[in-house]
Amino acid sequence: MTEPRGRTIIVGGGLAGLAAAVALVEAGEPVELFEARRRLGGRASSWLDPSSGEMIDFCQHVGMACCTNFADFCRRTGLSGSFRRASVLHFFGPDGRRYDLRATPGLPAPLHLLPSLLRLGYLSLTERLSAIVAVGKLARMHSGLDAMSVGQWLREQRQSPAALERFWAPVLLSALGETLDKASLKYARKVFVDGFLANREAFQVDVPQAPLSELFGELVPAWLRERGAMVQTGLAVRSIRRTGAGSYELNLGDGVTREAERVIVALPWRKAAEVLAPVADAWPAVRQWRTIDGSPISGVHLWFDRPLTDLPHAVLVGTLAQWLFRPELGTPQTTGGEHYYQVVISASYDLEAMDKPTAVAQIVGELQRAFPQAGDLHLLRHRIVTEREAVFSVRPGLDVVRPSQRSPLPGLAIAGDWTATGWPGTLESAVRSGYLAAQALRRVEDPDMRQLVSDLPTARLARLLFGL
Ligand SMILES: Cc1cc2nc3c(=O)[nH]c(=O)nc-3n(C[C@H](O)[C@H](O)[C@H](O)COP(=O)(O)OP(=O)(O)OC[C@H]3O[C@@H](n4cnc5c(N)ncnc54)[C@H](O)[C@@H]3O)c2cc1C
Repeated sequence: MTEPRGRTIIVGGGLAGLAAAVALVEAGEPVELFEARRRLGGRASSWLDPSSGEMIDFCQHVGMACCTNFADFCRRTGLSGSFRRASVLHFFGPDGRRYDLRATPGLPAPLHLLPSLLRLGYLSLTERLSAIVAVGKLARMHSGLDAMSVGQWLREQRQSPAALERFWAPVLLSALGETLDKASLKYARKVFVDGFLANREAFQVDVPQAPLSELFGELVPAWLRERGAMVQTGLAVRSIRRTGAGSYELNLGDGVTREAERVIVALPWRKAAEVLAPVADAWPAVRQWRTIDGSPISGVHLWFDRPLTDLPHAVLVGTLAQWLFRPELGTPQTTGGEHYYQVVISASYDLEAMDKPTAVAQIVGELQRAFPQAGDLHLLRHRIVTEREAVFSVRPGLDVVRPSQRSPLPGLAIAGDWTATGWPGTLESAVRSGYLAAQALRRVEDPDMRQLVSDLPTARLARLLFGL
C-alpha cells in the first residue's frame, strides 16, 4: 500500500518522535506515528503500582528553566500547567545541615548564586573559592574541551576530593547522567554556562505534577489525534529499506509493510542502527551508532509508614542517594497509610554493583540522617528501577558520532536525544531533535515549520566576563 503523497511516518513515540509529530501537525502535514509499546512517552513513562493503584514514574524526570524547547513543547500541547517550578534548591550536606541554593535579589547573572555558594559549609572556604575560580575558568574556555573528561581537568585544577564529591558531582552527575571521570569537559561546561551562569532563572527546576504516562502517554497523543495525526501503539517497525522508486518500505512487527516518501526515525541509538541496517550501505554512519555507550539511572521507590519530609525535593550531597522527591500521589488515606518518596541516582554504577538490600538500607539510613525529625520511621516496601541505558554516555569525542537529524538520504530524517543537538541526553535534547528532524524533511526552509526556540537571554555581565 502506498501512502498518499505528503504523509510522514514517524517511528518511535518518545519525546523526540512526539516533538517531530507536533511540529509537522502544526505545519498542516499529515502524520502517522508507530510506537512499539502500548503507551507513548518512551523513557519518560510510568507503571501502575498494584498496591496503591497509582501510576508511578519509572524515574522522576525534571526539566530546568534553560530547557526552552521542552517548555515550548509543553506549552503547545497544553502541558505547561502540569509542572511546578522550584526556584530554590534544597541541598543537604554531609554535615547534616540544609543549604538553600537561590538567586540573590538584585545580583545579575553570573553573580546571582555566589552568596549561596559561599555559604556551603560542607566545603572549606579555600575549596569554595577554588571551585568558583574553576567554574569561571571553565566558562572562559572555548576550545579543546571535547578531548578530556571533566574529572581529569578538575584534578589538573587541583580541586580537592571533597570538592569533587560535594560540589562538582552533585551538579554534573544528575545533569549529564555520567560520572566526572567519564563525562566530557565540553558537556560539563555546557551545564555550568547554560544552567547556572548565563541567566538568573536557568538553574530553576520544573517538576511534573502528574505521572509522565498521563502527560506524554495520554494528553499529547490526544492532542495529536484531535489534529488528525494517526497514532499507532503496540506496533514496532522492524526494518526500513529504500525502494527503487526512492521511497521507503517499512517492515512492521505485524508482518505488514508500509511505504512512505518521508520517514523520521525517532529511536534510541542501538534500535535506530538495527532498524536502519538495510540503508547502511548508502549511509555508513549508521553502523557507528552501536558503539555509543549508555549510562544507567536508577529510581529507588520507597514507601514509609510516616512522612519523611514536607519538602518537595532535596539534593543529598556526598551520599549514594542523590535527589529525593516527594511526588504528590494520593493522600495516605487513599494509599493505605503509605508515604511515598523517590530517590534518583544518576550514573548509578555503584548502586548496580551493590547487593540490593544493603543499598536500600544505606539509602534509608542516609535519609534518616538528613531528616532526623522524621523520627523512627519504617520502610514498608520498596522497588528499585534501573534503566541501564537511560541516556547516552557523554564521553569525550562523542560529538563525532552523534549524527545530524538531516540524513544523506532524501526523505529520511532521524531524531532522538542522542542525535546532534549539542545537549546531553535530556527531554530538551529529545524535543530539539524532533523539531530539527521535522525541519530537515522540508526541501526548502519553511517559515511555518517549528524552528528551535531561542535559549534564555544571556546576561550582559556573563557575556562580558566569559565571552559568551
Ligand atoms: C531513568 C531515567 C531518568 C531520566 N531523567 C531525566 C530528567 O530528569 N530530565 C531529563 O531531561 N531527562 C531525563 N532522562 C532522559 C530522557 O528520558 C530522555 O532523554 C528522553 O525521554 C529520550 O526521548 P527519545 O524520544 O529520544 O527516546 P525514547 O524515549 O527512548 O523513545 C524511543 C521510543 O521508540 C520506541 N521504539 C523502540 N523500538 C521501536 C520500534 N522498532 N518501532 C517503533 N517504536 C520503537 C520506544 O518504545 C520508545 O517509546 C531520564 C531517562 C531515564 C531513563
